[in-house]
Amino acid sequence: MSYKGDNLMSVKRTNRSAALRALHEKGAMSRKRLAHNMNLTPGAITKIVAEMISDGLLSEGEMLTSGNAGRREILIDINPQKACGLGVLINLQQAILSGAWLDGSVIFAESVPLQAEAPSEETAKRLCERLFALMAEHDIPRERVIGLGIAVRGITSADGRIVRNSFGALAETDYPLCELFESLTGFHCVMENNVRSLLAAQMFLSRDENEGSQFFLRCGYGIGAALSIDGRIWHGVTAQCAEIGHIPVIRRGGKPCHCGKSGCLETIASPGAIQEEARAILSPEQTPLLWQTFRDRSAQELSVFDVLTAAGNGDAGASAIVDQAIQALGSAIKALIYLVDPGKIILYGSLFEDPYYLSRLSSELQEGVDLRHAVEIGKSRYNMQLEDTAACLLAVQDFMANGGIQE
Ligand SMILES: [Zn+2]
Repeated sequence: MSYKGDNLMSVKRTNRSAALRALHEKGAMSRKRLAHNMNLTPGAITKIVAEMISDGLLSEGEMLTSGNAGRREILIDINPQKACGLGVLINLQQAILSGAWLDGSVIFAESVPLQAEAPSEETAKRLCERLFALMAEHDIPRERVIGLGIAVRGITSADGRIVRNSFGALAETDYPLCELFESLTGFHCVMENNVRSLLAAQMFLSRDENEGSQFFLRCGYGIGAALSIDGRIWHGVTAQCAEIGHIPVIRRGGKPCHCGKSGCLETIASPGAIQEEARAILSPEQTPLLWQTFRDRSAQELSVFDVLTAAGNGDAGASAIVDQAIQALGSAIKALIYLVDPGKIILYGSLFEDPYYLSRLSSELQEGVDLRHAVEIGKSRYNMQLEDTAACLLAVQDFMANGGIQE
């Protein structure tokens, strides 16, 4: 329980942050409309807006005529290019360096290969050198940078300073990555788990559609997820919400999982697991259609999409693998629907671009869920695009949450 009171500085931050959020989510509006949205007096808004215009964060734009008296009102908006956020997203064997303006528009996004065995300090130095080069290429002076967002695979500490375990992306465990990037760049840094960063980016870009609770399911090679409650991303006590891929589903004899356990959902339902299972049983007897396709090719070339195509065309072995995966994933999602009662389930990843998989999962999710649960399930409108901005938008969102005040 927190008993902290609000001093004047924190009231100022809160009000400025609410103004930035209202303008970001609802677009340009008059001082009067902003006062109404924020439940503040016109006098208080005039003061806040004047201060933020003088900081260069807001600007006055079009003139509107409103009401019967023909009162003229000037629209206020965020000046998006006043400042930019930078980002580093760290995944298996790959990092994405990015930059975005305050409205989320991308300045640059570049993929850089990563070597898992290289010491993290060396990796971070290399990434920072390239980031500085990209800033120069895009004419971004240091004073315009509001911070650096770090989105990293795996488990981060509850205070967002330490990478507990990146499961093979970085060489070390329990590593103070946030501090390292701060010392290398001199920028204020914020760090978050990669899937929670993707949901944060999805929420930032979809502006005012984030009321209630949303469950974000990302299927890449493995299965990751994130959850928002009342418009805020939920971290959980140990910052491991929502590791749905590591729910134990097979009690005995399950396959080993990279998390150290065995029989996790990810070991039978992830795209990687579907692919490996099909490679293991590839034969004329068990997977006749898949065998025909791969008769003259190496099983190592076989991807999850080949398995889905064969299953869609009636291959018995491929269908059994896909059915088992979908049923296991479906059960976990249905448990979540009953536990959290979310408004939306957002599906993210290349797997959901496959019409066969998407329709099979959708029908699985309709079975056994009563109609009182009005959850909307669908593919993210930014599917396959959020990696390019997730990290730099962490910095932008942190800046806005702080009322656009830099320490
Ligand atoms: Zn696991």
